[in-house]
Amino acid sequence: MGQPQSMLIPHERKPQPGDHIYSTRAGGLYAHHGIYVGNDMVIHLQAPPKGSGSSTPCQKCGYKRDCQGGIIKTCLDCFLDGRSSLEFYEYGSSIFEFNIKKRGSCTIFHTKPADEVVKTANDLLQGNGSKFKDYNFFANNCEDFAVYCKTGMAVSMQAVGGVEAASNIFGTGSLFGMGVNLGAVGVYSLAKVIHDANTAK
Ligand SMILES: [Zn+2]
Repeated sequence: MGQPQSMLIPHERKPQPGDHIYSTRAGGLYAHHGIYVGNDMVIHLQAPPKGSGSSTPCQKCGYKRDCQGGIIKTCLDCFLDGRSSLEFYEYGSSIFEFNIKKRGSCTIFHTKPADEVVKTANDLLQGNGSKFKDYNFFANNCEDFAVYCKTGMAVSMQAVGGVEAASNIFGTGSLFGMGVNLGAVGVYSLAKVIHDANTAK
């Protein structure tokens, strides 16, 4: 008998293919993001495995928790990893909404059509001629990966200089939501600041 974990999660809104979903972890300190691609499956960027690879594979999707990292496709249960929080990242938010909402929950950028989002996620999963298959490009940032699938825009604080640099500039020290949620203008100007700082060294 498989474990009917999904039945225990009180999702009111069902994810649809192309949705950017996330689940908060460590008491909301950070979140894991992914693209729902249908059939209860999610494509997401997972941190490199820490374990020795001795974990047993998921009966549903075959994911081995301690053996696989990078861009992976797992069932929703493996994506949630035992957490009940399933939230939806909002696209096309107004500046006003963007400023009052929790960082890492929305962006003013607009999403591509759902089928294109799913295609991009699958292309990245398969590494079809894309430099973005490189795990390091996203610098371990699952939010950047999901936003890229949704928008085609790779605007990453990590990719342009590191989250510490961004934190220093803003003086927040907060990891949560750092990324595209600074707003379009903020991202580009900050990216330039970091770029200039790095090239000046
Ligand atoms: Zn699974």
